[in-house]
Amino acid sequence: MAPDGSRLDSRPDPGVDAGDHLAAAPHAQLGELPPEEVLQIAKPESGLRCIIAIDSTARGAALGGCRLLPYGSDREALLDALRLARAMSMKNALADLPFGGGQAVLCRPAGRFDRSELFSAFGRALASVGGGHVATADAGTTARDMRAVQRQTTSAGATPRHRAGDHSSQTAFGVFIAIEEGLQRVKRRLRGATIAVQGLGAAGMSLCERLRDSGARLVVADLDRARALEAAARFDARIVEPGRILAEPCDVLAPCALGDVLDADSVANIRAAIVCGTAANQLADAQAGDALHALGVLYLPDYLVNVGGAISAARACLEQGSAADVVQEVALIGQRVNELLERSGSRAPVRAADDWAREKLATAVGRDGAGAPARR
Ligand code: NAD
Repeated sequence: MAPDGSRLDSRPDPGVDAGDHLAAAPHAQLGELPPEEVLQIAKPESGLRCIIAIDSTARGAALGGCRLLPYGSDREALLDALRLARAMSMKNALADLPFGGGQAVLCRPAGRFDRSELFSAFGRALASVGGGHVATADAGTTARDMRAVQRQTTSAGATPRHRAGDHSSQTAFGVFIAIEEGLQRVKRRLRGATIAVQGLGAAGMSLCERLRDSGARLVVADLDRARALEAAARFDARIVEPGRILAEPCDVLAPCALGDVLDADSVANIRAAIVCGTAANQLADAQAGDALHALGVLYLPDYLVNVGGAISAARACLEQGSAADVVQEVALIGQRVNELLERSGSRAPVRAADDWAREKLATAVGRDGAGAPARR
């Protein structure tokens, strides 16, 4: 047992079985391997309650996001961490990054809390368990939060560029490149295209900016009305209610909020030619990907297109490459979209992407130490 918590894989709580959750995790099933390590950490004095899921270090240290969300239960947080950690393994492998996959999720404390202390406590916890997880800002967290983590541990990408940089703009850039490729496939142009963006946080807002600069028309929604109003003012975007954005008629639907938005119900109402956004785990299950394909909607898998931030964080951690090199590497997402569509044939692209990621991960197994320093 770690000093700060418990390892769920070695000390299973009867109510919280990581293996069962992973097996049940829709779409993220590569099937073969359970996560390497799952830690549940609680520090009541700072309000910290978090899960750190290390899915795979076969390619190197686990690189992944750090979320802060008001989870309804520990089980919900655990399932989110497991699915996101697995998606990170797939994403980093597909982008040929020398990193494995992991994810940290923090349960947002009810009421007022000291944000800096919360993330400092998370940093100390991360350091005390070996620090093999590289955490980057994700839903509900910011670069400033990651700096608080960084002050306690070197595992949060502790380089000057990481401190100064905002990886979400590279996430948005990669998705932008994928949207351009997707539109070419369906013989549409970005200039004048209508793009519906769900979620206007760090990644969604940055995507809006790029799309608008390229002449796209934006339709936007966010649960936070102030963000929607900001997008309307900055990008001349039309605001729709959050409950209507997925069914908005458009060329591209860009989910940039949370996961599970594409399920049997929502897919049936989608009126977009392409679905391509930053949000992780957009498909509630694999069947939703098949259903989109059957309807003739081109779904570009999230873990293929939203890797820009991970590329930026990885290069910062390794102190490799200039900012221009990072941009070039992120732009390779366009080539990978094309390769995926070649590989897909008549199958749903997400099925082909799953297979492709599985191949990459399989070849990485046994190469421990070949990539970024693995844990401990
Ligand atoms: P964020 O917390 O900055 O923003 C999320 C936004 O979505 C918030 O404004 C929130 O109000 C809004 N939102 C939540 N639920 C919504 C709903 N049902 N309808 C409309 N709006 C809703 O998060 P972010 O960093 O921009 O990340 C967004 C998504 O992209 C997440 O799924 C994240 O995992 C994924 N992602 C982000 C990065 C990155 O670099 N930030 C990298 C890879 C993947």
